[in-house]
Amino acid sequence: MGHRRAKRLVGELSDLQHHECFYCGDRLTGRREVDHFLAWSRWPNDAIENLVLADRCNGHKSNHLAATEHLLRWRTRLAAAATDLRTIAATTDWLTDPDRTHALVHTTYTHMVAGTPLWLRGTEFELASGPTLA
Ligand SMILES: [Zn+2]
Repeated sequence: MGHRRAKRLVGELSDLQHHECFYCGDRLTGRREVDHFLAWSRWPNDAIENLVLADRCNGHKSNHLAATEHLLRWRTRLAAAATDLRTIAATTDWLTDPDRTHALVHTTYTHMVAGTPLWLRGTEFELASGPTLA
């Protein structure tokens, strides 16, 4: 991704998230990183709907799947901020694909194997009880 485009995207996502980390809600002061909600290693999906802004949570989450509470927050954002996300995509010339992004997340969570570690916060994980409706 181009540096200027990426910088602009970070600014727009920060505004959308009221300058708070998507996962822990802490104020985004120093470190701000673009996180692929559904890890890039699982599905290479750069659509804006799959991107959230995070602080050090991004490093902790790494390539794990996010816990249920994060999934619910992400789903809420997908619906509530659909127009905002499209606007950001238009102004930053970014890919937007809400349907595919939702389908990928849905497929992943509904095929969840019980016991899969889902990242909660810091070094804490919850274990999936089985398929989760996304
Ligand atoms: Zn955080």
